[in-house]
Amino acid sequence: MVYHNFLCLEGAARVLHDFHTHTFLSDGELSPIELIRRAVVNGYSVVALTDHAGPGSLPAMLEAVLAECALVEKHWNIRAIPGIELTHVPAKAIDESAREAKRLGAKIVVVHGETVVEPVENGTDRAAIESAYVDILAHPGLITLDEARRAAETGTFLEITSRKGHSLTNGHVVKMGRAAGARFLINSDSHAPGDLHTAGFVHAVGLGSGLEDDELQIVLESNPVLLMERLGL
Ligand SMILES: [Zn+2]
Ligand SMILES: [Zn+2]
Repeated sequence: MVYHNFLCLEGAARVLHDFHTHTFLSDGELSPIELIRRAVVNGYSVVALTDHAGPGSLPAMLEAVLAECALVEKHWNIRAIPGIELTHVPAKAIDESAREAKRLGAKIVVVHGETVVEPVENGTDRAAIESAYVDILAHPGLITLDEARRAAETGTFLEITSRKGHSLTNGHVVKMGRAAGARFLINSDSHAPGDLHTAGFVHAVGLGSGLEDDELQIVLESNPVLLMERLGL
């Protein structure tokens, strides 16, 4: 296989899944279709488009992303999943907003977790984990062991991220999630073309977060399949 990156590590994932990306529908640089095109070229088999949204912006954003994903899936060999990232939504409104996103056609709901580099409201991680409509808690920051245990029980995936700033707590997220038996995914949180993953890079991010080789294989290969099953895809 060809790696479009300077990093090419032995044992790198053969198929790439990325469940958290942004387009110019929010604060990303690329159109939805260009993002998906670049994901195809990087060797992705699955990409989710999850632009920042709150309750008021859900309908228009999902209408656009649903149409774009449906079009590319007819023509290109990639699974393009229409989704949303609920971002800085008040914690008490997360469950209702996530349910509304699913009702409007979002196949995946990500919640912008309590990263240490933004003033995300306390309680956001907990609200995301407790909502049956939230699939992934992105960059959970200084998540507690108790919250990680609840994530293990509810099946909410915890994100390890390659995004600058948010990635500062990857090691802590792995420590808590591992102790709790929670499941991880590694996502790019792409905002620009150069942020998209390659097989070698995602492998390096996983090792850098403290995952062992056998854990990393589960995170890169088994957990995406489990998530897809949970999403009914
Ligand atoms: Zn953003
Ligand atoms: Zn994001």
